[in-house]
Amino acid sequence: MLNFTSEQKMIQKEVARLAREKIAPLAVEADAKGHSSPEIVKLLADHDLLKAAVPEKYDGIGADYTTLAIIMEELARVDASAAMIAFATQTFIQILNVWGSEAQKDRFFSQMSAGDKINAFVLTESDYGSESASIQTSAVLDKDHYVVNGSKIFITNADIADFFMVFVRTGEGEREQGLSALMIERNTPGLSIGKHENKLGLRGSDLSELVFKDARVPVENLLGQAGKGWQILTSSGSDMRAYGPGAMAVGLAQGALDYAIDYAKNRVQFGRPIARFQGLRFMLADMSIQLEAARSLLYRTTGWMDADLKDAGKRSRLVSSTKCFASDVAMRVTTDAIQIMGGQGVMKDYPLERMMRDAKMIQIFDGSNQIQRVIVAKNLLS
Ligand SMILES: Cc1cc2nc3c(=O)[nH]c(=O)nc-3n(C[C@H](O)[C@H](O)[C@H](O)COP(=O)(O)OP(=O)(O)OC[C@H]3O[C@@H](n4cnc5c(N)ncnc54)[C@H](O)[C@@H]3O)c2cc1C
Repeated sequence: MLNFTSEQKMIQKEVARLAREKIAPLAVEADAKGHSSPEIVKLLADHDLLKAAVPEKYDGIGADYTTLAIIMEELARVDASAAMIAFATQTFIQILNVWGSEAQKDRFFSQMSAGDKINAFVLTESDYGSESASIQTSAVLDKDHYVVNGSKIFITNADIADFFMVFVRTGEGEREQGLSALMIERNTPGLSIGKHENKLGLRGSDLSELVFKDARVPVENLLGQAGKGWQILTSSGSDMRAYGPGAMAVGLAQGALDYAIDYAKNRVQFGRPIARFQGLRFMLADMSIQLEAARSLLYRTTGWMDADLKDAGKRSRLVSSTKCFASDVAMRVTTDAIQIMGGQGVMKDYPLERMMRDAKMIQIFDGSNQIQRVIVAKNLLS
């Protein structure tokens, strides 16, 4: 599914240029500081990348899954953190697009039309990460409001987000049955941002705690119906694993491979460029073989999602396979790219050690790679 449309090819070219010329020089400082760069956020906003999935009717790009994957791949090729900021923002938009009422779309999308709004996807709690069906943050109905109490951890964009898609327990039943999704605005009294995490990779994107103390959220902000949270999460919610982490992993691996090739051609040892040694040539070949396989799987999956083929089981298997395979490939390729560069590979003067740290994160977030294997196996055996 690599037959991109002319519009997709144009977006690919533009995002690649933006990433290379404007974002790459800012990425090192954001990584060192461990906070998102306001300049990078502004660049993403100015190029409409924060509202990419917003339908054209509401002044967005109306990006489909394949186009979103192209955007995340090109950003991650130079800066996976920039891709992470843009990706986490799209998940709110994409889920609202599928599950929201016309009134909700009018309300939230019109606020995003200027292109500078940031969103966050809010699920994980300190006691419930992989076991997301058991989350405990509660939303209790009080006349025309839900009263939300609890706390969430590891929320990408929490520090800078305007809107939060929050999964809560409204209590229609046990575990999966009792979950709902609420859209919550940042200025809601009772909502506060807690600890900012100091993490290994993706340091140029923010990851923080979110605390709810009697936060009153209008019932109109309920997405779909009460008790539909798990369905939202496992359908639209899991789709993001392909165009988000899956595409970011492919971009990271490509960026690392490009760097390693360039270095190997120019570094001379034993009187010749190290690219002439077969040991390294085979490493480069294996990196490329794995990367092309990951890219093919990514766009096969997004092509399936865009065609809206009705086999939900196959869709979920493809999405989980993409996230898992592509991020495992990114981990191997970035690690090997460092090996090819020798001592320079682990120095902060080059981007490869950052890329390797970023790749590790992708194996963990949005459902660890063990959980993706659990999903694939369950799907195969059911
Ligand atoms: C950079 C980053 C960004 C994130 N962004 C967000 C965000 O925006 N919103 C959000 O809600 N969350 C976010 N998260 C949270 C993320 O989705 C969770 O960290 C992830 O799902 C794993 O949960 P956990 O950390 O609690 O690990 P745990 O669930 O405690 O897992 C620990 C280990 O046990 C393994 N394990 C658990 N269950 C099983 C099983 N059944 N079979 C086999 N192995 C298993 C896991 O694979 C892992 O290796 C983010 C995390 C990171 C690191």
